Amino acid sequence: MKTVYLDNNATTSIAPEVVDAMMPYLTDIWGNASSMFYSTGQKAEAALARLRENVAQSIGAAHSNEIYFTASGCEADNWAIKGIAYAHKRRGNHIITTKIEHHAVLGACEFLEKQGFEVTYLDVDKDGLVTPEQVEAAITDKTILITIMTANNEIGTIMPIKEIAEVAKKHKVIFHTDAVQAIGHMPINVQDLGVDMLSISAHKFHGPKGVGMLYIRNGIRIENLIHGGGQERGKRAATENLAGIAGLAKGLETAVANLDKNVAHMKKMRDKLINGLMERIDYVKLNGPSPDDERRLCNNCNISYEFVEGESILMRLNMKGICASSGSACASGSLDPSHVLMAIGVPHEIAHGSIRFSVGEDTTDEEIDYVLEAMPKIIEGLRAMSPMYEEFEEGKLQSFTKKA
Ligand SMILES: *Cc1c(COP(=O)(O)O)cnc(C)c1O
Repeated sequence: MKTVYLDNNATTSIAPEVVDAMMPYLTDIWGNASSMFYSTGQKAEAALARLRENVAQSIGAAHSNEIYFTASGCEADNWAIKGIAYAHKRRGNHIITTKIEHHAVLGACEFLEKQGFEVTYLDVDKDGLVTPEQVEAAITDKTILITIMTANNEIGTIMPIKEIAEVAKKHKVIFHTDAVQAIGHMPINVQDLGVDMLSISAHKFHGPKGVGMLYIRNGIRIENLIHGGGQERGKRAATENLAGIAGLAKGLETAVANLDKNVAHMKKMRDKLINGLMERIDYVKLNGPSPDDERRLCNNCNISYEFVEGESILMRLNMKGICASSGSACASGSLDPSHVLMAIGVPHEIAHGSIRFSVGEDTTDEEIDYVLEAMPKIIEGLRAMSPMYEEFEEGKLQSFTKKA
């Protein structure tokens, strides 16, 4: 049976050119970049410098020494938030974020709250947006950090990052953005955006898992998260994962070089999928901005299907070889509805029946056709055995959505 992979917001396949770029560092150039007194180490160090320069160029950083490699997107987010909190706690203890951040950001903020920091979790509108005005209104003389994601991983909302960065600058507050989902799906230039810090993760753009990057603008004071040796200019100990870094640099370079072409293709696939599902299936709700709104990520399709459970849909999709995600907090194994869907006001009852499809550069028309063929039957089959649907048909239960 064929596999139709439509979960690119969860992770992506490793591109062959990424594997090729990594290979030398898994074979010949295995030296420690910190061992400067012999050639194996020097080669590794030279490679690291070159890769750092590559990455700086790909995100429009002014200097390569603003690039700090980490072991994941989660680490980059944790470092940005805890590192700023600890370094600036004498100046203030207030952090501003939103209710729809990734768990890496929310978890770091909740951890800091237990240590006396105060966190404002901004509400979002029905599409998942915050406004620069909301951010400005939340700033106090104790605010040391604003952390707001560039694009949401569940519903694809693209936040007004440039405008929020201006507000942060005006009030002299440090601004971090989690751009893990945004990169490769929209133009990202740290100087143009005006952000102070930005996180990315290689495995979301066809790089390897277990390597990320935190951009830290020169002049920003940040405490270490990982202590030990003097790597990453004394800011993050650990022998550099050169192969991983080479993979990150190559994935990023490729994503940036092909951005316009990729975005146009993904949009086309996304729209065909969204429109096709909305036309073919009754009692559905699209989550996140409308597809003709530029503030929706080019590859995200998140729809709630009434009277059915997301996990049941996923199981049946799996039987057809189709990979997707449900709206529940899958990673934690919890059955709570997604915090993102709750924050945009999706009723509990229908949030449970949400499925996220995220297309990729290589998604084909045939694959979308295959999903559009499968999904109506799956939903129909599940509704036929759903007690909720039965009650609805008997008029005992109300619907939150309309018949198409
Ligand atoms: C995947 C993701 C992360 C975490 O990155 P890892 O490298 O998997 O730790 C953080 N933020 C967002 C928005 C993500 O989608």
